[in-house]
Amino acid sequence: MGSLNVALCGLLFLALGQQPVANGQQPQFARSASRLASLLRSFAAMSQQLPVMEAFYTVQGEGLFSGQAAYFIRLGGCDVGCSWCDVKESWDADAHPKHSVEVLVAEASKHPARIVVITGGEPLMHDLGPLTKALRAAGFRTHIETSGAHPLSGDWHHICFSPKKFKAPLPEIYLHADELKVIVLNKHDLQWAQEHATKLPSQCALFLQPEWSKRESAMPLIVEHVKAHPAWRIGLQTHKYLNIP
Ligand code: SF4
Repeated sequence: MGSLNVALCGLLFLALGQQPVANGQQPQFARSASRLASLLRSFAAMSQQLPVMEAFYTVQGEGLFSGQAAYFIRLGGCDVGCSWCDVKESWDADAHPKHSVEVLVAEASKHPARIVVITGGEPLMHDLGPLTKALRAAGFRTHIETSGAHPLSGDWHHICFSPKKFKAPLPEIYLHADELKVIVLNKHDLQWAQEHATKLPSQCALFLQPEWSKRESAMPLIVEHVKAHPAWRIGLQTHKYLNIP
């Protein structure tokens, strides 16, 4: 912060020392102040701290990008409360160390793939604008997995929307989802999945994925449903079958 303060004072000095100019042009003072504000915004964005449960390089196991190498960032914090959640340790954001956007992008850049998947927890509990902006500037595709229960922030190449019965999604997510992933435990979930699908753009890919601990009983239901409603596909957590960490 010391160097920022010096820069800030310097810019203020320069800005305040300038005289307005004629001919309707923006006064030098205003231009300097605007540059200063922009500088401060960039600094604040890069220094934003996000709680990170884990970050790792792997192969995406689910959905449209299944089989492709990607860097995963699992953010802490979730208030959705799925009873069958397999990452309950992610729920408490305060339980996880915070890292700056700058550090997260630097870590992702150590690996050759140029896809970053932001997951959670519920990642939209955080403002993801600065992170996605920095990732895009570094040449990454930005992907997110979200329940849609919090306001959409960030600039995304791919949004995987996975609604949960425990906390309703916000309406805006339906306009932006590229992929719908519904976790299926029982027959009612198939009907519930269809209710979401009807609100989505026609190009949105539709996946029915068995909840891992219920896969034996859910799979036959999903297979019959997909055969009867071919707009849907079976979604598998291939990384779990293949033991890919
Ligand atoms: Fe767990 Fe995801 Fe449900 Fe949150 S939204 S409780 S992280 S499964």
